[in-house]
Amino acid sequence: MSTPAPRFIQPTRTAPDSGTVTDRLLEANRAYAAGFVDPGMGARPVLRVAVVACMDARIDLHAALGLELGDCHTVRNAGGVVTDDTIRSLTISQRALGTRSVILIHHTGCGLQTLTEDFRHELELEVGQRPAWAVESFRDVDQDVRQSMQRVRTSPFLPHTDDVRGFVFDVTTGLLREIDPRS
Ligand SMILES: [Zn+2]
Repeated sequence: MSTPAPRFIQPTRTAPDSGTVTDRLLEANRAYAAGFVDPGMGARPVLRVAVVACMDARIDLHAALGLELGDCHTVRNAGGVVTDDTIRSLTISQRALGTRSVILIHHTGCGLQTLTEDFRHELELEVGQRPAWAVESFRDVDQDVRQSMQRVRTSPFLPHTDDVRGFVFDVTTGLLREIDPRS
């Protein structure tokens, strides 16, 4: 009997021994550009949706959501939290580039669940300057998604807040679980 295929392929790629990782990426870009055909698209996302998600390396947003080039705006940061800068991007997305829907994606095993606001304090002690931003750490991922949905829905800058939905992406199954905003 054959053994089942592993669910994950262990990464075979490592950081380069010589040169920088950027050099490797530039080499990949040259190959990409060699086969690139101008898609002739405008800047307005075809599906009129903006996706706000954590920067986590395990989330391939386009693959996970069946998105294609040109379909959506993606706004990513540590935690996928809705900060002033996230609102800035969403405001431009909606008012200048025609998006209507917002999808928020947090995930299991997020690094922000391991931090506290002490991170800021320790940073201040180390560098002698207090950052202007909050760490936006959290314990309860569901509650953090609800808070993010609330921040989008209550923003005075966003004209389209009827279709705002929030999810937790499970990094072990690839599935999204929707969060009820009223729970
Ligand atoms: Zn994360």
